Amino acid sequence: MNAEIIAVGTELLGASRLDTNSLFLTDGLNTLGVEVTRKSVVGDDVVRVADAVRAALDQAGLVILSGGLGPTEDDVTRDAVALALGRGLEFSQAIADQIEARFAQRRRKMVEINKRQAFLIAGAIKLDNHNGTAPGQWIEHGDQILMLLPGPPNELKPLFETECVPRLTARLPQQFIRTRAFRVAGMPESDLDQLIAPAYRPYTSVTTTILAAAGDIQIHLRARCANESDALDQVEELGQKIEELLGDRLYSRNGDPLEAVVGSMLRERGASLAVAESCTGGLLGARLTDVPGSSDYFVGGFEVYTDAMKTRLLGIDARLIASETAVSEAVANAMARGAREKTGATHALSVTGEAGPQSATPGVEPGTVWVGLATPETVRASLFHLPGNRNRVREFAVQAALNLLRRAL
Ligand code: AMP
Ligand code: MG
Repeated sequence: MNAEIIAVGTELLGASRLDTNSLFLTDGLNTLGVEVTRKSVVGDDVVRVADAVRAALDQAGLVILSGGLGPTEDDVTRDAVALALGRGLEFSQAIADQIEARFAQRRRKMVEINKRQAFLIAGAIKLDNHNGTAPGQWIEHGDQILMLLPGPPNELKPLFETECVPRLTARLPQQFIRTRAFRVAGMPESDLDQLIAPAYRPYTSVTTTILAAAGDIQIHLRARCANESDALDQVEELGQKIEELLGDRLYSRNGDPLEAVVGSMLRERGASLAVAESCTGGLLGARLTDVPGSSDYFVGGFEVYTDAMKTRLLGIDARLIASETAVSEAVANAMARGAREKTGATHALSVTGEAGPQSATPGVEPGTVWVGLATPETVRASLFHLPGNRNRVREFAVQAALNLLRRAL
């Protein structure tokens, strides 16, 4: 079954309020095996909402509206759905009594306009809302289903879980969903897809999604089958093939980020890490310390942005920086060696590069980054030519540094 979601509310068209309900609903529906094929945001206008409902009913078996069930003039969802379906609205004394009781509980008197919330679309089933005054509504229209849900997320979420999920589950054929999440570093998205597409293409009951960020690609596998062991077999089998194709470029089989994977490796080996950062300005240290418990292996870092600080804090010979420039193999090595010696850590990473947009180093293009690594055995550096704007180059550089350490470990 396919679904469409309509978020109703003029405030959702601007930046002041974001439509988060549709994200929550999409997640919940996917888990049930329902695919959300389109969503829209429509302002508080009865005709436009009715148009959106008609358009959604042309495409999907399930149409969910959120918002616009409040008591004020601008809450038009009930009227709009009634208009779109050609049905009337019926006053429910039972709902009016419930709303009145809610007010009484708070020692307040129900105001007249709240009666607007006591109208049900003809033929609708009331969905109890224990966290607000507006009940939801469930409507069967031929073999299609419409759901009207309240806008506030703290009302919509529990109502969806307790009232909608059981009703939907009863309607849907039984399905089992099994997922795997892989992460890959140091590979462009197009290369990755070219490599693994022949493997995943034949698996028609597994959805493969590739999500790329700077220097980090996630591969999500999701099998949907009528039988639990089929779903598990399918993700396992395809997962195995993908693992073989990617080899050690694959760094995570459970969705853990690179800093957590590297952290576990350091901890297992009883190793420790220091960093010396120039163009990333502390981002590498921040990523490493995102992981709870990172003090087990991360000792600290040097944020050495200027040449003078590289000399003062890490003891790098000023003549070396002058002759080689700050963005060079020799300086990357010296930074890593210096960070390791000054801290006593077993390992040290260094990053020095040009994040752009302009280059401060003669003859060095923006996106040029050297990453140095000092270990108990050696000191060496790798050169990267990273794409994108300043932010992306910096994110890429952090990822490249973490991946270099991972491979060394
Ligand atoms: P309404 O039911 O339209 O009166 O909405 C009440 C409140 O719920 C709004 O002021 C928003 O704060 C919130 N809300 C409505 N729709 C959404 C949505 N799609 N996502 C997140 N919050 C929403
Ligand atoms: Mg509203």
